[in-house]
Amino acid sequence: MTNVAIIGTEKSGRTSLAANLGKKGTYSDITMYNNDKESRKMVFVDPHGYPKALKSLVTALNISDMAVLCVPPDGLDRNNPTSVHTGECIVVLDLLGFKHGIIALTKSDSTHMYAIDELKKKIKLMTAGTSLQDWECISMNTNKGAKNPFEGVEDLKAKISEISEKIEAEQAELNSLPARVFIDHAFNVTGKGCVVLGVVKQGISKDKDKTKIFPIDKDIEIRSIQSHDVDIDSAPTGTRVGMRLKNVQAKDIERGFIISDKEIVTIDYTLECTISKFTRAIETSSVLHLFVGLQSEPVRVEKILVGGQEVQEAKPGSTCVLELSGNKKVAYSKDDRFLLANLDLSQRFAGYGFTK
Ligand code: GDP
Ligand code: MG
Repeated sequence: MTNVAIIGTEKSGRTSLAANLGKKGTYSDITMYNNDKESRKMVFVDPHGYPKALKSLVTALNISDMAVLCVPPDGLDRNNPTSVHTGECIVVLDLLGFKHGIIALTKSDSTHMYAIDELKKKIKLMTAGTSLQDWECISMNTNKGAKNPFEGVEDLKAKISEISEKIEAEQAELNSLPARVFIDHAFNVTGKGCVVLGVVKQGISKDKDKTKIFPIDKDIEIRSIQSHDVDIDSAPTGTRVGMRLKNVQAKDIERGFIISDKEIVTIDYTLECTISKFTRAIETSSVLHLFVGLQSEPVRVEKILVGGQEVQEAKPGSTCVLELSGNKKVAYSKDDRFLLANLDLSQRFAGYGFTK
């Protein structure tokens, strides 16, 4: 199964595209659009809470294996105030080292060929040296009243399908690891108890598994698993699941909780960080926003180390060790990538890091 985040700035045509690709399902600050008609089941995630909320964007990306970045005709125009968010999306995809994706040049019916070629050139320049540098640009529209209605949509679907094959091979390799499920929604269903929705990030999660939930470190049992509304016995890596859980209540579960046998749980972090070139220097005592998995919280920069020496600031484009302190317990594993953001800037993503 492939999960695809449909991202981009405001009014870039994200929702129109997602709605064209699947049937509307779960709705919160992200909306899921399911396609279970084809042999390959797909979930398209529309983080409509973005650009207002970064959390919506990071959640969509961290439950997805592929991204479609929507860039409208004016998506990189300097005098378009929302174009900063197109840049921000490119920055976050690069900081996440996001491998698989496509750039959709949306609303092709409202521009012309010359402008599309110019936009493609601009994108090539902007994405050179980033994880997006080899992503294909597909010009498309979802306007049924256009002269060329739905131009490019079939090409886009074919490309998504082609990339999905690669993703499924990668997911199969992760099946041998211990199971980890990232939870994005939790609620109580009358007569059924605690139900969570999420995605199997690695391993195979099985019905009747006796496991734990983090960061609360509580023993639980998986009562049943569904995928696309069908009961299944086991859910391999990449499966979007609904699970009934025993021994925990929905009110005690937040987005980002992890079902797993073992996780690290801390409120402080020492991270080996790479600071983005597209941010300002990070200073001691400043407050950053930390994201890991689907969890997020503000953290204070306690100490900055460069080459083992304490310094007062970390420069854009540099690497350093950051000691950060937060207030709530966060669960993660050694190889999880942390993202840092400075919510006071217009391009908000500041860097990424891994625990030392
Ligand atoms: P979002 O904010 O990124 O989710 O963008 P929407 O999908 O809501 O689209 C924003 C606006 O652009 C809406 O008024 C849509 O009707 C319009 N729109 C979306 N896709 C197209 C398209 O392919 N062609 C044209 N002409 N308009 C579009
Ligand atoms: Mg929308």
